[in-house]
Amino acid sequence: MQVAEDSGEVAQKILKVISESFYIDGSQFDLSCSIGISVCPNDGDDFDTLLKKADTALYQSKSCGRNTYQFFTTEMNQKAMLRMSLDIEMRRGYELNEFSLFYQPQYEMASGKIKGAEALIRWHHATKGYISPIEFISVAEDTGFINTLGQFVIERACQQAKLWIELGYPIVIAVNVSAVQFANNNNLLEQILSSLERSGLPPNYLELELTESTLALQPDKLMQIMNQLRSCGVRFSVDDFGTGYSNLSYLKSFPLDKIKIDQSFVRDIPGDSHDEGLIKSIISLAASLELNCIAEGVETSDQVNFLISLGCEEAQGYFFARPLPSVELTELLTRYKSML
Ligand code: C2E
Ligand code: MG
Ligand code: MG
Repeated sequence: MQVAEDSGEVAQKILKVISESFYIDGSQFDLSCSIGISVCPNDGDDFDTLLKKADTALYQSKSCGRNTYQFFTTEMNQKAMLRMSLDIEMRRGYELNEFSLFYQPQYEMASGKIKGAEALIRWHHATKGYISPIEFISVAEDTGFINTLGQFVIERACQQAKLWIELGYPIVIAVNVSAVQFANNNNLLEQILSSLERSGLPPNYLELELTESTLALQPDKLMQIMNQLRSCGVRFSVDDFGTGYSNLSYLKSFPLDKIKIDQSFVRDIPGDSHDEGLIKSIISLAASLELNCIAEGVETSDQVNFLISLGCEEAQGYFFARPLPSVELTELLTRYKSML
């Protein structure tokens, strides 16, 4: 169809022009752009329908890695409908208390001590059973519902960690915070501070996990929030390290405490020489920046021994324990009280 071909060509031209670097006061700036296209009359013949479908195609274009364009397809429409119904289900599930937190302990490998626990959200749907966060977090990020979920997670995690301290188990609680929470929620700082205050959890027992792409998104705004939280004692770690946008200067300028080596690098060690090399480099990078280092997704004793031999101090993974409901982690902590 000629109209479609023409709009594809126009989209390519726009992308080319926008991707060219430009300079302001000698500093280089680069922009990227994503484009969604719907075509009249195939995709609709009124403005609202066409805009909605172009927006669906835009969404797909963004998730293809940006700097590209996509035409609307019926399959995209189906995906968009599924995401919409998941969003409605999520909001309904939240009202019905279907969300809870599991906690995965984090171990100091040499001593076997439990140093912390990562709070991981769980959605137990009334009829579908457990739905993975991988399925719903990205939808919640798109619709903004992540702000409600994120607040719930911080509130609940702070209360639980305080309870563990009262029971004599002083462990740090790590909470995942999405980039969208930092970008769209101007009250995030106040929300975190009031959760700390309401629970009575000393701030140095709260660790916020951010990904590399979060650090890159709005560095100035983020830095401000992080510095304020850091001045109260809150800790920060970089989650899934090595999988995202690794601008190493960020590691130096943000107030970070810990790097979490992504489980994709841990999976094939020992044995895979590339992953072995990457892990060695990450561990020595962390050491030179005076950051702690924890390996994620540790499943075997060979992995543990290899990581210890490289000087990695901490690990979490199925080898030690799966994410557990709070009651089960409390039992584990009770059994291992002497190991805290
Ligand atoms: P993540 O923060 O990197 O969390 C680690 C994931 O690895 C968890 O998956 C955990 O269950 C899984 N895992 C732990 N040990 C092992 C292991 O030995 N082997 C394997 N194969 N997997 C292991 P989960 O709970 O499904 O969470 C997936 C992702 O969803 C998390 O990755 C995080 O990015 C996101 N997420 C989970 N809870 C929250 C939350 O409360 N807020 C936000 N914003 N994101 C969350
Ligand atoms: Mg995490
Ligand atoms: Mg991770």
